[in-house]
Amino acid sequence: MEPMESQTSINREVMEMDVVIVGAGAAGLSAALKITQEVEKRIQAGESIEMPSIAVLEKSSEIGGHSLSGAVLNPIALRELMSDFREQGCPNECEAKEDAVHYLGQNWSVKAPVTPPPFHNSGNYLISLSKFNRWLAEKCEAKGINIFPGFSVVEILLEGDCVVGVRTGDKGIGKDGKPKANFEPGLIIKSKVVVFSEGTRGSLFKQLSKKLNLREGKNPETFEEGVKEIIQMPPGTVKEGQVIHTLGYPLKESIGGTFIYTLPEDKIVLGLVAYLDSKDPLLDPHRELQKLKLHPFISKMIEGGKVIAYGGKTLPAGGWFSIPKLFGNGWVVCGDSASLVDVQKLKGIHLAMKSGMLAAESIVNAWSAQKFSSVELQSYEEKLNKSYIKKELYRVRNFHQTLSKGIFSSLPLIALQEATGGRGLFDQMKSHEDAAVTSPVVDVWGVEGLEASENKLPAHDGILFFDKLSSVYLTGTSHDEDSPNHLILGNKDVCRTECEPKYKSPCTHFCPASVYEMVPASNGKPNEKDLQINYTNCIHCKTCDIKCPFTNIDWTVPEGGGGPKYRET
Ligand code: SF4
Repeated sequence: MEPMESQTSINREVMEMDVVIVGAGAAGLSAALKITQEVEKRIQAGESIEMPSIAVLEKSSEIGGHSLSGAVLNPIALRELMSDFREQGCPNECEAKEDAVHYLGQNWSVKAPVTPPPFHNSGNYLISLSKFNRWLAEKCEAKGINIFPGFSVVEILLEGDCVVGVRTGDKGIGKDGKPKANFEPGLIIKSKVVVFSEGTRGSLFKQLSKKLNLREGKNPETFEEGVKEIIQMPPGTVKEGQVIHTLGYPLKESIGGTFIYTLPEDKIVLGLVAYLDSKDPLLDPHRELQKLKLHPFISKMIEGGKVIAYGGKTLPAGGWFSIPKLFGNGWVVCGDSASLVDVQKLKGIHLAMKSGMLAAESIVNAWSAQKFSSVELQSYEEKLNKSYIKKELYRVRNFHQTLSKGIFSSLPLIALQEATGGRGLFDQMKSHEDAAVTSPVVDVWGVEGLEASENKLPAHDGILFFDKLSSVYLTGTSHDEDSPNHLILGNKDVCRTECEPKYKSPCTHFCPASVYEMVPASNGKPNEKDLQINYTNCIHCKTCDIKCPFTNIDWTVPEGGGGPKYRET
């Protein structure tokens, strides 16, 4: 067995499992549950087959703690997985009852006379993904699946090009990189199959993709960054089940929009999503979310409320042409890690679940034959290509590439795509690495730069308007102060000599958690600044790994148990 990185000098406990699933999100938990269901079916049909041992490894200290989404759930995959999900106590907040789309100008708004079909949500549910995943995990545990929260996975174990297991991260390492008194070495977990369901920009799958060239011939991955707040309103003021989307204000130089969902118990979800293939080096979704609340259309709706929860994440937006190879010797990849998000409807939970379920079917076939090479696991990709995942994603395969050129200028081309089953004028439209499209500040904002981008930023009041640090407090984020920095900077000098002067340090803007800060340079030169990384604030959104114009930041997995503690989002 050959580790991808050298960590061979430490004596590690070795565990043997049949299936290891990295990430206890909707994809990974659905895969685990479906494996047990398929095996039970075979046993009932008389096949001599044992239940495989399954371990689901989750870096959050509690299941659902790192789960964040809008979240409107299309229940198609859930119904297949558990037709009696309501009777089984699925924590749906409510059904989506009304849809609307509004365009926001600077101080005005206009409602679309008819809600466009992609924004129809009849039959969908408003959920908290965090609660939903906790519930799915309970169902898994009831089936004997081992769920291990607080375990980050830092390394893939390979024999040639065959994945044979993973290594979990060491615990109790100090910020100087040396073991502390509470040091616990990570485990080697050998496995016949590894399911990568790490979520957006999975750090392990990023390593594997590079090593095995899994994105050859594909469009580059591209992403959106989303932030959201939950606002508690006074009793009796909110009609539940409304799904409202807006376009226009406050985003100026970036494509994106906002979403407003109304939940039971007088809660309003307010979120903003921005394309990361934006030229704007000062893009700051947290700031734009605060500005949004000043707009008359929104301020009226949230008057008297108090923000009680906050979160941020990236979501894959590359669509069909960005999907990597989905299987190989001893592994499969599912959900957000495989870019399986409908970028037009901004929905991915049902696709994540379905991909996990299809992967599970192939894994059970492989388990039955006791062969786990790519020959056995390729049926996963074949099944996915015959499923509604392909149907849904193929129809919008050129959508993101078109819309990122501008909302109004792209409308005729998008209409043509709708009429031609997604083809439009050109097929397999190319996308660009998000990091590569960032422009210098002066090209986007002129000489006014930062000032022009930040006008009308509301003052922090701790009730409806928050600065980033106060918002981070609402996420419950913690990392051990005496642990290594998991945000690895490639070249420190670039931040001082090129990025700050030309781009005004985009990471200090796009990071939704104030992790990055420019401070007086250690060389003593009065006009220069160094980057300081306050890594314990990190809410694991991965934007810095994606959007740094110099691709100078590598997000690696911190010690297990660190990060946000989402419970409502
Ligand atoms: Fe997101 Fe990176 Fe900031 Fe962490 S440091 S919150 S991953 S942008």
